[in-house]
Amino acid sequence: MSQHVPQNAAASGDADAIASANLASNEERPTKPAMLRGFRRCCPNCGRGQLFDGYLKVNKTCAVCGQELYHHRADDGPAYLTILIVGHLMAPLIHIVFTQFRPDPWVMATGFTIFCVALSLYLLPRLKGVVVAIQWARRMHGFGAPA
Ligand SMILES: [Zn+2]
Repeated sequence: MSQHVPQNAAASGDADAIASANLASNEERPTKPAMLRGFRRCCPNCGRGQLFDGYLKVNKTCAVCGQELYHHRADDGPAYLTILIVGHLMAPLIHIVFTQFRPDPWVMATGFTIFCVALSLYLLPRLKGVVVAIQWARRMHGFGAPA
């Protein structure tokens, strides 16, 4: 044991620096609350600052807590999720409405077009918030780098 002490002591300077850096960047980041904050289009860290500047442009940093948000790589993930959800809602709804109510084709096409576009516009920024929040909570793409 005593032989190991000098070696550990020699390396302790670096080890302490690494440990403190890990402590600073290893605070708990629960994924589920972050996802809910993202769905509300709020900062995944504090839940008070606005995540977006406009409809889909993510703010560089949170105005309330200063969390850097530009690390996100949401890319086309939110669009994919939006299509996935809206498509899986629309397909059975079209089937049910057509078989149960037999509306005029123009009524059905107009109604479902408006519903589809409105639901997509509603979900897209919220799902982008969820994707950014997951990336923040999981320390992906530079969200885990010490400040
Ligand atoms: Zn914040």
